[in-house]
Amino acid sequence: AVGGGEVWLPLIQPKELWEQTGRWQIYGKELLRIKDRKNADFCFAPTAEEVVTDLVKKDVRSYRQLPIFLYQFASKFRDEIRPRFGVMRAREFYMKDGYSFHANDEDLSLAYTRIFEAYNKIFKRCGLKFRPVEAEAGAIGGNYSHEFMVLAETGEEEIVSCVCGYAANLERAECVLPAGSPIELALPLAEFPTPGAYTVEAVAQLIGAPKEKFIKTMFYDTDVGPVIALLRGDSILNEPKLVRSLGVKSVEKMAEERYCQLAGCAVGFAGPVGLKDRAFAFDPKVRVVADYLVQGIVNGVSGANRKDAHVKNINLGRDYQPDGFFDLRQALRGDICPRCSAVGKNEVLAFSRGIEVGHTFKLGTKYSAAMGAVFLDESGQSVPFVMGCYGIGVSRVVAAAIEQNNDANGIVWTKELAPFKVIILPVNYDEPNTRQWADRIYNELQAQNISVILDDRLERAGAKFKDADLLGIPIRVTLSEKSLAQGTVEFKLRSQPDPEILPKDQIIPRLRQEFF
Ligand code: ATP
Ligand code: MG
Repeated sequence: AVGGGEVWLPLIQPKELWEQTGRWQIYGKELLRIKDRKNADFCFAPTAEEVVTDLVKKDVRSYRQLPIFLYQFASKFRDEIRPRFGVMRAREFYMKDGYSFHANDEDLSLAYTRIFEAYNKIFKRCGLKFRPVEAEAGAIGGNYSHEFMVLAETGEEEIVSCVCGYAANLERAECVLPAGSPIELALPLAEFPTPGAYTVEAVAQLIGAPKEKFIKTMFYDTDVGPVIALLRGDSILNEPKLVRSLGVKSVEKMAEERYCQLAGCAVGFAGPVGLKDRAFAFDPKVRVVADYLVQGIVNGVSGANRKDAHVKNINLGRDYQPDGFFDLRQALRGDICPRCSAVGKNEVLAFSRGIEVGHTFKLGTKYSAAMGAVFLDESGQSVPFVMGCYGIGVSRVVAAAIEQNNDANGIVWTKELAPFKVIILPVNYDEPNTRQWADRIYNELQAQNISVILDDRLERAGAKFKDADLLGIPIRVTLSEKSLAQGTVEFKLRSQPDPEILPKDQIIPRLRQEFF
């Protein structure tokens, strides 16, 4: 309805396309690779940006042919480290993936908004309690994306949200510069021995100081040289934020050997005092950056750049000076909402959990530029397509819906997602009158296009009731010789504890009432 055309893209894709974007390397072990009989390399599609860009590149020449929006429903394969919870995180799963191509950013924004709204409608119709959140773009790329999170305690993703409407996944959540630091007198630097204590936890315990007093010193390699990141002791570094702050392509934790060369000490004993000069002598490209929270640390504790020693009373300006302050950490409980803080309010972020069922991205020209996928714009210039991509984890939606809708007896499907809307349960299908009525209702519902399943197994009634509950079909119609003799049938909603007893000729109207 938002203007897509359905396609069928290859499941097995050639290495050459993935090399054009660099993802043959970047995707890492999640990309399952195979060879054909001629020893040529291929992969099983984990997603389809490369092949769809190649398809459009070959066929579309002019801005007059744009925009184009192509989608498919297809299996995807990702060699996940930890496949688990059945279809929730499987190596092979079913996805709806869509890709849009535009002449410019404004047109992409229009499409993005329309598709974003369509996703909201889809998940609403699925009967899910969900929320879209701002997200990190990860291996797909781009710098603007949303994840659709089904709210569930058991979800793998942590999300933050605010009453103002701001919501983001933990990876993306912005942290703000804290207002005003504690007033405390700067004390003189003092080194002290910490034999064998190389973690913040261990030293904190040793001297009885809170983790908030510590300056963590972390070493990374980037495509433009080494980087040392300073964080408050209780913070967790967020690598995508480090990448964005530095404007680099990638960051990677530094190998132990290089760390020791740069810091001049064993791992765990590096600290900011005198570190920049030492590291600079080793590699003049080195940069030292600090998280906002480090600005507030007075009389801080960190490594002495000497094995088995730390330093206390470290103060910014006097003892060290980073090259810049950035938002580098993951959000923590108690953090203020970044949107509210911008307008002077101190609303605290709420933390909750979710299951990611969909993801939308503005990709810009990331793929088209890398693959030379260009068209002629209005002025006759050859320019790369502006792209977006949009995915729904169809099979994961099933798992997420069950997570939200179940009871002690099994699944409780919402009508939109149920594999069948009605189950007809004859207590004894061998009994002629029961069979006649069961078949009659079944055929009538079929004729009216209401999806229905008939349990015609010659099982014990108890087993059939248990299975019907377990499968979670929204409506159960039970027929028995005894009730039919009294002229009645039983109508029961899976979501309600008690059945209704209806005159048998009322059953079809009652079912119809449930659907219209
Ligand atoms: P995750 O962080 O859960 O690994 P992702 O960010 O790698 O997901 P995308 O690349 O955005 O996922 O893929 C689009 C959608 O496909 C996701 O929103 C999710 O619903 C679904 N999906 C991704 N990986 C799996 C998987 N291993 N099993 C089932 N569904 C998946
Ligand atoms: Mg993944």
